[in-house]
Amino acid sequence: MEDHESDFEPRIITSAGNADVKLLRSLHERKFRRKSGWFLAEGVRICTEAVQLGHAPVRLVYAEDRHSDPFLVPLIEACRDAGGRTLAVSEDLLVRISRKDNPQTVIGAFEQNFISLEQIVPKGVWVALDRVRDPGNLGTIMRTADAVGAHGIILIDECTDPYSLEAVRASMGAIFNVQIAQTNQAGFLDFARSFDGQLIGTALPASEDYRLANWQAPLILLMGNEQAGLPETLMQACDQLVRMPMMGRSDSLNLAVSTGVALYEYLRHQPAKSGGSPE
Ligand code: SAM
Repeated sequence: MEDHESDFEPRIITSAGNADVKLLRSLHERKFRRKSGWFLAEGVRICTEAVQLGHAPVRLVYAEDRHSDPFLVPLIEACRDAGGRTLAVSEDLLVRISRKDNPQTVIGAFEQNFISLEQIVPKGVWVALDRVRDPGNLGTIMRTADAVGAHGIILIDECTDPYSLEAVRASMGAIFNVQIAQTNQAGFLDFARSFDGQLIGTALPASEDYRLANWQAPLILLMGNEQAGLPETLMQACDQLVRMPMMGRSDSLNLAVSTGVALYEYLRHQPAKSGGSPE
């Protein structure tokens, strides 16, 4: 018999040598996420949102004493219905899998889902990030993109992994609701030339105030790397290049903050429905 539960009286896994436990622990490393195509998301709230959006976990790990928790039962069922495996584990194993002293009581492993540039529909707003390095920034940007109804994120060149636990945590579940594409600079430039909409870059050297820009959709908002900003080649490809005024001593805004400011400026320029979201 395999070392996993088969019904609602779960067999409790306590061994760190269990194959599923080993695989789940390996998902903290990018090379194993790449190899398996899976990633981890923690917590009942995020796992429930994932399921509601049609992403059933391929593995669902939970604290042994929670198997009849009413919030957990639908997750267990969704996982099993989709052919996944559920594992009731000891507290000690949850700590090992999450690598946190106070782990969430539920951890799901989900399939990664990258789209290709050809699948990008020129509608609304997309966010392109050049060599984003910080997983907290990327997660916060996914969360903000989701908040304004952006369709997705385009990652250019070597970026931090959107499916790292840090980025997923910071996205607060938005990882399941924004599409993600990856490309290199040449691929992005080709794509941007054929994109039926405008490309708006943000950069410190820009002369146009972001409040005076034309934010007509469809558009791609292009943001630069945390240290180096946007390279000349990407700036030159932009239809508009805008800056946010810096009135104090700092010379730039944090990447995620400036993306949020720009995205809400975009939203402010869209025809609002009664709920405040764009048409
Ligand atoms: N030293 C970098 C530079 O020279 O661009 C600072 C990069 S900033 C931390 C990261 C990105 O956030 C920038 O490339 C730009 O896209 C955006 N950004 C931050 N502050 C901005 C501002 N005041 N105006 C326009 N874009 C800004």
